[in-house]
Amino acid sequence: MKVEKFGGSSLADAAQFRKVIEIVREDAQRSVIVVSAPGKRTTGGHKVTDMLYLTHQLATIDMGGNEVFSSIADRYLSIRDALQLSYPLEKDLEEIKKRIFSGASADYAASRGEYLSAKLLAAALKYRFVDAADLIRFDDAGELDLSTSLFLAAEILQDGQFVVPGFYGAKENGEIVTFSRGGSDITGSILAAAIHAPVYENWTDVSGFLAADPHLVRGPKPIEVITYEELHELSYMGAQVLHEDAVYPAHRAGVPIHI
Ligand code: ASP
Repeated sequence: MKVEKFGGSSLADAAQFRKVIEIVREDAQRSVIVVSAPGKRTTGGHKVTDMLYLTHQLATIDMGGNEVFSSIADRYLSIRDALQLSYPLEKDLEEIKKRIFSGASADYAASRGEYLSAKLLAAALKYRFVDAADLIRFDDAGELDLSTSLFLAAEILQDGQFVVPGFYGAKENGEIVTFSRGGSDITGSILAAAIHAPVYENWTDVSGFLAADPHLVRGPKPIEVITYEELHELSYMGAQVLHEDAVYPAHRAGVPIHI
């Protein structure tokens, strides 16, 4: 069972969802799919995660937030409709809105971007949706409990095909906790380690690890192979390829990471 992670740019709209569906279907071993929330559709566009934080902030200071939430809802509904899925997303949207506007935490609000992406992709692929709150455990201080997370994921992700939202987990009491920004990479790495996947495939809008940021430098050379230590070092230094905390779980379990 391979583990796949698709970032926000890969899930920005229905056309991107279609590409993801195609990629997953190309290889029958691609059975654990971790997703981000939809990212920017255009330069100058907005990431759903940012819009969720904004909704939460506006709701908290009683300054509205309805309009921002409606445009989030429209993004998901248009993806669902373009993919001709019958999934009843309105129910989830209503529940999420109710909770954000009645005092839910910022972490809960932000996590719903990945939650809704995963619901839609699971419906499209006919894979089982597994809530990250049931797999990724945080302790009472809000720190990742890696060993419990590995145990839970190994128990639940057996034989089958699953879509799991990235970026968050929960404390034992069910309270939602998110990783830092870009944290869906960490979720993928933990799940890959838990099931001893043959590979952790991390899909993004730039192919491979390049010697420079291709948005700034024309035609940088790809780096074909890199050690876990180098990958961690470069991520820590700001290379926007993989979240720095996503290296350790895969490294420890000896799972190769393909970008
Ligand atoms: N959606 C979250 C973010 O924008 C997490 C992620 O994409 O990995 O940071």
